[in-house]
This record gives sequence, C-alpha cells and structure tokens, in this order.
Amino acid sequence: MFVDGRQVPSGTVLETDIAIIGAGAAGITLARELIGDSRRVMLIESGGFDLDTDTQALYEGESQGVDYALDAARLRYFGGSTNHWGGFCRPLAEIDFETRDWVPHSGWPLSRADLDPYYTRAQAVCQLGRDLTAADFDDTAAWAKRGLGAPLPFADDAFVTRFFIYSAPLRFGEAYRDEVGRAPNIVTYLNSNVLEIVPDAMARQVELLRIGTLGGHTFDIRPKICVLACGGIENARLLLLSSSVQPAGLGNGNDLVGRFFMEHVHVPGQIALIAMDDKAAIPAGYNEPKEINGALVRAILMPSDAYLRREKRLGLNIAIYPMRAPGAEGTPEAERPSEAGIAQLLQLQSAGASATIFGASCAAEPIPTPGNRVLLAASRDALGQNRAKLVWRPTIEEHRDLARNVDALGQSFGRWGRGLVKALFTEKPAWGEDEIGWGNHHVGTTRMAIDPKQGVVDADARVHGLGNLYVAGSSVFPTGGPVNPTLTIVALTLRLADHIKSINLTGRV
Ligand SMILES: Cc1cc2nc3c(=O)[nH]c(=O)nc-3n(C[C@H](O)[C@H](O)[C@H](O)COP(=O)(O)OP(=O)(O)OC[C@H]3O[C@@H](n4cnc5c(N)ncnc54)[C@H](O)[C@@H]3O)c2cc1C
Repeated sequence: MFVDGRQVPSGTVLETDIAIIGAGAAGITLARELIGDSRRVMLIESGGFDLDTDTQALYEGESQGVDYALDAARLRYFGGSTNHWGGFCRPLAEIDFETRDWVPHSGWPLSRADLDPYYTRAQAVCQLGRDLTAADFDDTAAWAKRGLGAPLPFADDAFVTRFFIYSAPLRFGEAYRDEVGRAPNIVTYLNSNVLEIVPDAMARQVELLRIGTLGGHTFDIRPKICVLACGGIENARLLLLSSSVQPAGLGNGNDLVGRFFMEHVHVPGQIALIAMDDKAAIPAGYNEPKEINGALVRAILMPSDAYLRREKRLGLNIAIYPMRAPGAEGTPEAERPSEAGIAQLLQLQSAGASATIFGASCAAEPIPTPGNRVLLAASRDALGQNRAKLVWRPTIEEHRDLARNVDALGQSFGRWGRGLVKALFTEKPAWGEDEIGWGNHHVGTTRMAIDPKQGVVDADARVHGLGNLYVAGSSVFPTGGPVNPTLTIVALTLRLADHIKSINLTGRV
C-alpha cells in the first residue's frame, strides 16, 4: 500500500516492526526481501513517483574542493538515483576487501567469498541476464566462446581482461513499484521526509523517527528496527542531523560519521591514445557493450591482483574504443577527446597513416582520506534542515598512482609489440581542474569496521552502540574499489535482509 504522507494528520504516531528510510536501490531491495515476512514494514520515501523540483531541491548543498553539484548527482523520489543511473555493474574483487599496507584505512570485515552468494542474487535483482553468476564477470574463456572475442594477449601479467555486465539500466522504482505496493505487510509513505532519528536518553536504541512534509506538518513513526538507506551522502547527513540526544550526531561518538567520503575519478577525455597496426587486434567486445544471450557485456582492462600487490598500486578500470573524429556526432560523453587528446590524435594519425587510433578512458580507485567528508552546512533547506556540505578533493597520491598505472599500460602494449601508446595523463605536482570528472558514486561516509574507533557500523551494518539502527548503501564501504557501487550495494542489502530476518523481535521495545 502507498500512503501520501501529506494526508497523515499532524501529531499522528505510527508503530511498525521495521522502518526503512529511503526507497532507492537499497531501500527497495530490502523491502522486497521482507515481502511476506511476519513483521510489519514501513518504507519511508522523501519523494513521490516522479521528479518534483521542490523535493529535489532538498538535495542542494555546498561543496568545498571540487565544485560538486550535490543535487545533480542523485535523485530524490521513489527509485532514488536508479532513476538516472547508467547500469554499469561489476562486483568488487577479492583484493578490494583486503587490508593493503599501501592503502591507508583499507580492509573490510568481510571477504569477497562472504559476498559471492549475494552477488549472484544481486545480479538477478539488477536483471543482468539469465543464468549468470559472479564468476562470469571475470571469465574470459566463457565470453570468448560466446562470441565476445579473445582477451588481449599481453606478454606480461600487468593488465587483464575483465567484464562489465550492464543492467538495462533498471529503474528500481518503476520495476518494483507494483510488487512493493501489493505486499500485505508493507506500507510505503511517500512525500515523507525523515527529519531526525531520535534515540532513547542513553542513545542505545532508536525510539522514533520524526517525519516532516514540505506542506509543513509532522508525524512520528516508532520502529523496532530502523534501516537508513538514503544514499552515500544523505545517510551521513541524517545521522549528523539526528543530534537532539547526542549533539555530535547519532553514531558519531568517534567523529567518523561523514568522514572518508570517496568518489571514482573519471578523467574527462582519454588517459592514453593507442595506435594499432591492425584494427582487428582489439576485438569489438572491448569497443562497446554487446548483447549476448540476453546479457549486455563489455570487455575492459584492469590491473591484475599480482601487479597491484607487486607495485603497491590502486585499482582502475579501463575502457578502450576506436577514436572518432573530434566533434563526430553520437560520440559518448566519456569518449570525447580533450584538447590535448585532439592534438595527439592528429600527430599520431599523420605519423602512421594506416594505424587505427584507440582511446582509453578510466575510472580510478580512491584512497580513503578522513579529511574528505560530508558535514552540515550553515545554510538550511525548505524543511529547516542544515544542508549537506561536501569537502572533497582527490589526493596527489591518487594522481601519482594513476599516472604510473597509465605508464604501465603503455609498457604492456609495448611488450606485446602491437600498439604504440601515447600517455595523456602524466605525473604532475597537483590535479588539474580539467582532469577531475566523477561517477556520482558516494562511498565511505559511514564505514564498516569491527572496531568502533575505526568505523560507524559493524560487520552486520549495525551502527556501533545502537541496538536497532542499521545502514544500507555505499556509505558503509570502507574502500571503494575501482568499479561502480550499485551491484555491491544490492548484494550487501540482501545480506542485511538475511540478518534482519534472523532477528527475533519479541520483547523488543
Ligand atoms: C547519473 C548517474 C549515473 C550512475 N550510474 C551508475 C552506474 O552505471 N552503475 C552504478 O553502479 N551506479 C551508478 N550510479 C550510482 C547509483 O545510482 C547509486 O549507487 C544507487 O542509486 C544508490 O542506491 P541507494 O539506495 O543507496 O541510494 P539512492 O538510490 O540515492 O536512494 C536514496 C533514496 O532515499 C530517499 N531519501 C533521501 N533522504 C531522505 C529522507 N530524509 N527521508 C526519506 N527519504 C529520503 C531519496 O529520495 C531516494 O529515493 C549513478 C548515479 C548517477 C547520479
């Protein structure tokens, strides 16, 4: 059932077993998992079924460092940011979960093996194609057999072929609205903004959620279990805003809420150009997504785990495609050449008239950095709540690491002996503003750690110190890896759903 929160009389107090705040990829996935459960669920969503400019304006905020439009980077209505996501899916790799001595603050309290069964289930939720498992993201032999082409036969082990499998992209709100609406144990409150998560006087348990509408009236929900699923920036903002009992914000006893914000830097234009003597040497499966047996798949290059360990580097993922003439119609945004790229392209073309020039673009793994963070701004939104302020600038270590990885890519092509690589992204003393693009991935602000001094949530995604408050979404990732987050968000949410189903609520307040 769907209820418009604007129709709930002010002063109403509602009770439920499980409250889920936010109906995006995480919130909708969790609600679907609880369909048919004996417990009553309330899904509380700020927006309605469509974009509304006044509600979307609640996402406006301030930024410091990189000029970051907080309202353009996410959507505030049923389905959340999946209403405009690109659908790129890939799990994190084993190494991404490990503590690496060259990546400060790295290490998850989970391993890839712990998440593997959930990744396979998450692929079904994101509708990535029938009969595929998490292993298919790395299975070069299987995709070659299915017609995607053989992997590039580099002579060294630095770079390997991996795969993105694309979601349609699935709009979670449209796809799952009827199913959630029909569920007898779920009530979804639309146009209902959680203003504060209020705990008991000792801040041990969540007691109630204060809800406000843009029309100005308020009501409360008293849950036995509460799950915060508002996205990687808003999860931190709402904990910081929940300050009536703990002035620094809920779960923020160790000053960690909002810190360690991470984004994937997508360098605009190309990181390198590759002149190939034979166009067919790079199979079409690398150049663009191909549909095979109902799955949309693209081959990419990634550094091997052996190389990352040996060289102590950060991960990245690299897309390769034949360069179109500058200004050619229909060139995807990510493949548009930068000015430096155009100059090099013309040079390379005149040097080798018969060569085909390929471009390489990438997204890079960020370093968890405590000073990159979400704070509360002094300015307020239409509900009277302090806006989010994002302080984010990629570090010089990330720049150096990426430049060295680009150099290594050139060496791998060189050893193979088939392509001439011109690196466009090279080591510099500082990031140039024109070198920083991003993926709209908001990671790390309520990081997961066993030790409360190192993280906001524990390995079950429960906020340290609070018995009944959980967090779903990329804010719990301790590190971001080099790939898009949503498949991992969904996998972690399925794991959280299993945990919540195992809790006996009898006797809980
Ligand atoms: C342009 C773009 C392209 C992207 N492409 C990709 C991609 O290709 N692959 C990928 O993996 N990821 C991609 N992403 C990221 C992806 O969209 C997010 O990772 C994903 O949507 C996060 O899911 P979530 O449920 O945590 O948050 P969201 O989907 O953002 O949902 C949060 C929900 O909480 C609600 N909410 C917020 N505050 C409150 C409140 N106070 N009270 C009640 N409700 C509230 C919001 O209205 C929203 O519905 C992209 C993002 C953007 C913006």
